[in-house]
Amino acid sequence: MLPFQTLEGAEVFLGRNLTFAETLWFKYSARKPDYILYCHNTLFLFIFYTLVPLPFVVIELMRSKKIDQFKIQPKIKNSLSDMFDCYRKVMLTFVLVVGPLQIFSYPVIKMIGIRTSLPLPSGWEMFWQIVVYFLVEDYANYWLHRLLHNGWGYQKIHRVHHEYTAPIGFAAPYAHWAEIIILGFASFLGPLIVPGHMITFWLWFILRQMEAIETHSGYECPWSPSKFIPFYGGAIYHDYHHYVGGNCQSNFASVFTYCDYIYGTDKGYRYQKEVLEKTREKSKQKEIWSSPAAGSRNLSAGCLFALHLSSRPSNPSLRANPPFAKLCPFATANPRRREVSPPARFLPLSSQLKTPPFAFAQTLPSRYMPLAASENAKLRRTSYGRRRSIIAGSRNMQI
Ligand SMILES: [Zn+2]
Ligand SMILES: [Zn+2]
Repeated sequence: MLPFQTLEGAEVFLGRNLTFAETLWFKYSARKPDYILYCHNTLFLFIFYTLVPLPFVVIELMRSKKIDQFKIQPKIKNSLSDMFDCYRKVMLTFVLVVGPLQIFSYPVIKMIGIRTSLPLPSGWEMFWQIVVYFLVEDYANYWLHRLLHNGWGYQKIHRVHHEYTAPIGFAAPYAHWAEIIILGFASFLGPLIVPGHMITFWLWFILRQMEAIETHSGYECPWSPSKFIPFYGGAIYHDYHHYVGGNCQSNFASVFTYCDYIYGTDKGYRYQKEVLEKTREKSKQKEIWSSPAAGSRNLSAGCLFALHLSSRPSNPSLRANPPFAKLCPFATANPRRREVSPPARFLPLSSQLKTPPFAFAQTLPSRYMPLAASENAKLRRTSYGRRRSIIAGSRNMQI
């Protein structure tokens, strides 16, 4: 509730005319108790977690080859009833846990010093405060999340959130009630350190919800504005954490990538990314060196086969922790699988790249090789300079 009864009173207090935004705020909040203004957050929680994932639901139901190129785990398809079931459970948790938690945390908000009065903060002030909130929450969330991946914490609490090995937008807040309280604490740390205006507080929670929905959407959207945020993890980054599952020791951070980089908990992810890039590079090489008439069909089959095999490299620890799902269109993945693979920290980065993951190529049936021997010979006859490069190319393809 504002201490001014009229617009004129507010203008006298500020010593200037009110801006358009301040007039709107005055009209909306002047007669509302601060408690009610704070409770808006609970309302936003219900509204945003209902509306923002809806486009992803529609996309999931309209699945096609075009859409599948943006799906991070294209083997997984969720039905409307699956997604609605998740939504129902999340809303139940909101009603029973998050709503009451938000309402009862009001004294903390008063103690912190979140203000509702005029003047409103400038755009710049809101921006840097929200940046601080994101950074602080990300750091705290990193350590709390990492703690939850230890034995007891995982089995009793965090396991629920990992039921979705291929997350969907509605699954962002799908978690044990204790996890919601533990990680919710991290969200209050930023405003505790740098208290701001209620509008900044609302905006912080809304943006954080939208970020959580995007990272759990299961889709990598190239047009997302979040692509411009430095060190932003995004959907693939967090999807990897869910895909590997309970024993995952990678990608704990909720928003940015710097914590995982500093503390070395992104090694497994970076390794798999390197595998992905190298495999793609090799697939491209195969495309270049195969003749379109004879080789393209076999090549595409060969690529898929190779990608499939790359998910089952000869090294046992790698086999147990296969490269990212997008790489292996034949790999089966249960969206609700609970346990997989040893910790990704057991994946050495540099040493294994030289040998095992691509050793599979030697075992490919000859029909999957990109160039038939006769075609190779034909191409070799063209010119000496071309021949050298062709031979080098075909060696590369042998891997
Ligand atoms: Zn986790
Ligand atoms: Zn998650």
